[in-house]
Amino acid sequence: MSYKGDNLMSVKRTNRSVALRALHEKGAMSRKRLAENMNLTPGAITKIVAEMISDGLLSEGEALTSGNAGRREILIDINAKKACGLGILINLQQAILSGAWLDGSVIFSQDVPLESDAPSEETAKQLSQRLFELLEENGIPREKVIGLGIAVRGITSADGRTVRNSFGALAETDYPLCRLFEELTGFHCVMENNVRSLLAAQMFLSRDENEGSQFFLRCGHGIGAALSIDGKIWHGVTAQCAEIGHIPIIRRGGKPCHCGKSGCLETIASPGAMQDEALSALSAEKTPLLWQTFQDRNPEDLRVFDVLTAASNGDAGASAIVDQAIQALGSAIKALIYLVDPGKIILYGSLFEDPYYLFRLSSELQEGVDMRHDVVIEKSRYNLQLEDKAACLLAVQDFMDNGGIQE
Ligand SMILES: [Zn+2]
Repeated sequence: MSYKGDNLMSVKRTNRSVALRALHEKGAMSRKRLAENMNLTPGAITKIVAEMISDGLLSEGEALTSGNAGRREILIDINAKKACGLGILINLQQAILSGAWLDGSVIFSQDVPLESDAPSEETAKQLSQRLFELLEENGIPREKVIGLGIAVRGITSADGRTVRNSFGALAETDYPLCRLFEELTGFHCVMENNVRSLLAAQMFLSRDENEGSQFFLRCGHGIGAALSIDGKIWHGVTAQCAEIGHIPIIRRGGKPCHCGKSGCLETIASPGAMQDEALSALSAEKTPLLWQTFQDRNPEDLRVFDVLTAASNGDAGASAIVDQAIQALGSAIKALIYLVDPGKIILYGSLFEDPYYLFRLSSELQEGVDMRHDVVIEKSRYNLQLEDKAACLLAVQDFMDNGGIQE
């Protein structure tokens, strides 16, 4: 274990960071209330606030009269438009370029198609160029940019500098994407796995509700997850914490998974797996209702929602596929409930917009979990809205974590 002392610069950084987080989470407040919130003396707060006002990061607002003596207190708030964070989210065949102010309000968000076999350097050059165009189109000078957040599918290195494997989003593996974007843009860059960036965005936007531990489950085509413990996102030794989709479930004869193994949870329980399973079972005998639906439709158009509709209407074959998927996913989540004891499980993805699936999974998660576990299971209040801003919010949060001090 290594030990590090705090020098005055890191104390200053920490205090400024806590002030920014407190104002972000609780809204504008007086110096007195900020001092109480941060457990600092009024003298110390006055100095920190004065410095941050002079940097333009904080501003004075309304004056409130408080207490019996009728003292007037001036509210202090974050000057949200002082600085802007930029972001690039990289997914399969698609990138999202975004920008947001310090309060998380989005300035722009744009989808850009990606060619997965193009060299990453070319892709990064094109994305950087488009980002600069978007800055110009939105009238934002480069001096306002505090950094670039990169959210990327797959496995990133523990130091957040290298993409170990994006499973098809980028042409190369072990690619130093963070450094490349720093060279191309000149901005300070931070990189994170895409699902962890979604949880970070969820936590940033929901402000004062992130005490304790939360498990964030994202079902897109596959299954991804992220875990926060005591308000901090957990990475693990190799930055693969909460890779729940790749828990080995079937020991022999499992289907191949894109991670290179076979029989992973994702190959049974993901929306893509349910879809594939239904397509291969599609017949008048095994899946009669689904079969009927596809009498005048191309089976290639079969989607997981068709399977769920058939299952909810009593199709035995479709129900068996959904049951198997829900039981496998439910078992993995219950193991996590017993291991981590999270306060909340947040469900994210279009699958959870389906009332039948949501009800079935929630029921499965209640079964076999004793009442001492007080876990709240809910659909994200930002469901399907976080991809548009997750990457630029990484830059905003990194800036706040550094106390708004740029190197
Ligand atoms: Zn796998």
